[in-house]
Amino acid sequence: MEAVKETVDQSLREMRDTFASGRTRSVKWRKAQLGAIIEMVKDNEEKMSDVLFQDLGKHSTEAFRDELGFVMRSATTALNCLDKWVVPRNSNLPLLFYPATGKVISEPYGTVLVLSSWNFPISLSLDPMIGAIAAGNTVLLKASELSPNASALLAKLIPSYLDTKAIKVIEGGPDIATILLQHQWDKIFFTGSPKIGKIIMAAAAEHLTPVTLELGGKCPTIIDHHSVSKDMKAYYVLVEQSFASTLIDMFKPVIRSFFGENPKESGCLAKIVTKKHFQRLSRLLNDPRVKASIVYGGSMDEEKLYVEPTILLDPPLDSEIVNEEIFGPILPIITLRDIQESIGFIKSKPKPLAIYAFTKDENLKTRILSETSSGSVTFNDLMIQYMCDALPFGGVGQSGMGRYHGKYSFECFSHEKAIMEGSLAMDPEARYPPWNNFKLNF
Ligand code: NAD
Repeated sequence: MEAVKETVDQSLREMRDTFASGRTRSVKWRKAQLGAIIEMVKDNEEKMSDVLFQDLGKHSTEAFRDELGFVMRSATTALNCLDKWVVPRNSNLPLLFYPATGKVISEPYGTVLVLSSWNFPISLSLDPMIGAIAAGNTVLLKASELSPNASALLAKLIPSYLDTKAIKVIEGGPDIATILLQHQWDKIFFTGSPKIGKIIMAAAAEHLTPVTLELGGKCPTIIDHHSVSKDMKAYYVLVEQSFASTLIDMFKPVIRSFFGENPKESGCLAKIVTKKHFQRLSRLLNDPRVKASIVYGGSMDEEKLYVEPTILLDPPLDSEIVNEEIFGPILPIITLRDIQESIGFIKSKPKPLAIYAFTKDENLKTRILSETSSGSVTFNDLMIQYMCDALPFGGVGQSGMGRYHGKYSFECFSHEKAIMEGSLAMDPEARYPPWNNFKLNF
C-alpha cells in the first residue's frame, strides 16, 4: 500500500504541474488527445471487444453499440464542437451597468478524478474522460475492479496513446479508491451505487470538491394498453392487471426469438458479472415468495454465471428483488388496477434515473412529466436517451446529481467564470458614502 500511496502522490504532483504549465488549456492539445482516444479505440476494437466478453460475456455487437462505437462518437462530437464550446459567451448586461461589458468563459477545474463502474466499463471510463479532456483538465481514471480485464486493458492502452503527464490510470478496488479520495481533487466524477456515492460525496466535502454522481436505482417501465417492450433491459414493468397475462404471452416468443430455445448457448446473453453477484441473484430468486411469482424461466448455472431470462409476476412489493437493483435478466412485472396508479407507485420510490412509458395517452404522459421526478423520461422506447448526446444524461435525488454527454460533458468539467469589464466613466455618487436616502434600483 505504501508503494501505491507513493504512486498516487507522484501522479497527482505530475498532473498538477502539467495543469499549471497551461498545456492542457490549449485547444490544440485537447483536440490531439480526443483524436488519440478515437485512434486508440479504432486500433484496439478487437481487444476491447474481447475484454468485454471476458468480463461480462458481452457480444461484440452489443459491445460496439454501447461502448466502443459510443465512445468514438462521443470523442468525435467533442473534437468537432470544441472550437464552438470554448468561445467566451457575451452577456447582455442591464442598462444599469452601462458602459460595463460582461461575458462568461469556461475554465477547466484543474485535476479531476474519474471513478467508474463495471457494467459499461469502457464507455463509463472513457466518456467522462472525454469531457474532462475537452474542458482542458488533467485526469486520473480508476475503473472498476469487477471488470478486471477491461481495467487492465485501459491501464495499458491509455499511456501509450495519450499524454502520460496529464492523463493517468490507476487500477484497483475500494482500497485504492479510498487512498485517492484522501487527496484533494478539483472535481470528482463518479459512476456507481448510491451507497458508495455517499462515501464519495463525504470525502469530497472535506475539500469542498464539486462532484458529479451518476448513480443507480430501479428504472420503471410503464406499459399502457397495446404498447409492448421488446427489450429485456426494462428494470421493472408496471402494467394493468387485465393486460398482464397478454403481455407475458407476448414476451415469451420475443425472448425465444432473441436467445433461442437454449439462451445459455445463444452467445447473445451477457453473463452475471461475478460469483458474488450470481449468489446474490440466486438468493433473491430463491426467496419462496419470489420463487412463487416466476412465470417464465428461473433456471441458473453458477459455473457459467448464467441466469435464464426470467419473468416474475407480482413478486411481493417488500421483496429485495422489487426494491434493489437486479443486474441480471430478471423482469419483475407489477400489476395495477389502473395504469394511472403507476404515478403513485413511482412516487413512492426513490427518484429513478429514467422512467420509460409505452403509451399513446397524452394525459398519462403529462402526468408523468409533471407529477414524477427522474433523471429523464423516454416515451415509447428504451435506453435511447443515453445514446443521444444532444440531451443531458444524469440522475436526480437517489439516482445522482450533475449531468454529462455532448456539450453537457464539457460543461460538467468546466467552471463558468463570470468576467466583467467595468468603467468608471459613469460613476454615480450614490455608490459611495455619505449615504443619503437614494436607493439604487436593481
Ligand atoms: P460501486 O458503487 O460498488 O463501485 C463504483 C466504483 O466505486 C468502483 O470503481 C469501485 O471500485 C469504487 N468503490 C467501491 N467501494 C468503494 C469505497 N468503499 N470507497 C470508494 N470507492 C469505492 O458500483 P458498481 O457495482 O461498480 O456499479 C453498479 C452501480 O452503478 C449500480 O448502482 C448502477 O445503477 C450504477 N450505475 C449507474 C450508471 C449511471 O449512468 N447513472 C451507469 C452504470 C452503473
